[in-house]
Amino acid sequence: MKYALVTGGSRGIGRAVSIKLARMGYQVLINYVNNTTEAEKTLQQVQRTGQDGELLKFDVSNGQQTRQALKTWQNTHPGEYIEVLVNNAGIRRDNLLALMPEEDWNHVLDTTLKGFYHVTQPLLQPMIVHKSGRIINIASISGLKGTQGQTNYSAAKGGIIAATKALAQEVARKNITVNAVAPGYILTDMVEGLDEATLKKTIPANRFGTPGEVAELVGFLASPEAAYITGNVISINGGLYT
Ligand code: NDP
Repeated sequence: MKYALVTGGSRGIGRAVSIKLARMGYQVLINYVNNTTEAEKTLQQVQRTGQDGELLKFDVSNGQQTRQALKTWQNTHPGEYIEVLVNNAGIRRDNLLALMPEEDWNHVLDTTLKGFYHVTQPLLQPMIVHKSGRIINIASISGLKGTQGQTNYSAAKGGIIAATKALAQEVARKNITVNAVAPGYILTDMVEGLDEATLKKTIPANRFGTPGEVAELVGFLASPEAAYITGNVISINGGLYT
C-alpha cells in the first residue's frame, strides 16, 4: 500500500491533487479543517478511481492537533508510511499592511508556514528510514514576486519557498525530493470575489488556470520520473510575469 497525504484536500487544488494521486495508485489521506461535506465528496471521487482513501480532519496550524492525528494514523497503520506529502492547505486574509489586524497576519502565516512544520516534521523520519519520499509544497506567485494587499500571504508563501530549498538539501541523499509549485490564478473558492474579467487580461494565456492543471504538475513531481528534481519552485501561471 502506498500512501499520500494532501492537506486541504476537501476543495479546490487539494481535491484535484487527491484524485490525481489516487489515479497514480496512492491511498489518499484527505486532510481538511471544517468542511466535512466537501471532504466526503473528494473521498467519493478518490474512490471512483478504484483506490481508497480516508479523511483526516485536523487544523494544520495547531501543532498538538496535527501531531495527534498523524500519530493516531501511524498507530492504526503499523509498518506503513506516508510516501507523498502535499502541503496544500492555505488561506488568504487580504488587506493593506497599514490596516491589517495582527490576527490576520498570524492566521495566514500559522496556516501556511507553521502548518508546513507541523505536518512535515513528523513525516520526515519515516521517509528517511524508507529512503523514499516526495514533498510538494503549494506556494504561489505571491511568494515569488510579492503582491500588494497580501503582505501576510506573500510572506508565508515566500517562507515556504525558502523552506523548500533548505529542506531539499537536507534530505536529497535519502532519496526524498522537496519542491514547490507556484500557481498564478486558479479557479477555486479562494479566488471567489476577484474580478476575473479584468484580471485575466493581465495573464498572457488570457484565462485562469484549473485545479486539474495544477494537479498534473504535482503528480509529475510525485512520480519516479521526477527523482532528480529537488529544491525547485515550478510556476504554473499562464505566463504571468514573475
Ligand atoms: P480553497 O480555498 O479552495 O481550499 C482551501 C483548502 O485548505 C480547503 O480544503 C480547506 O479546508 C483547507 N484548509 C484551510 N485552512 C486549513 C487548516 N488550518 N488546516 C487544514 N486545512 C485547511 O483553496 P485553493 O484550492 O485555491 O488553494 C490551495 C492552495 O493553493 C493554498 O495553499 C493556496 O494558497 C494555493 N494557491 C491558490 C491559488 C488560487 O488562485 N486558487 C493561487 C496560488 C496558490 P476546509 O474545506 O475544511 O475549509
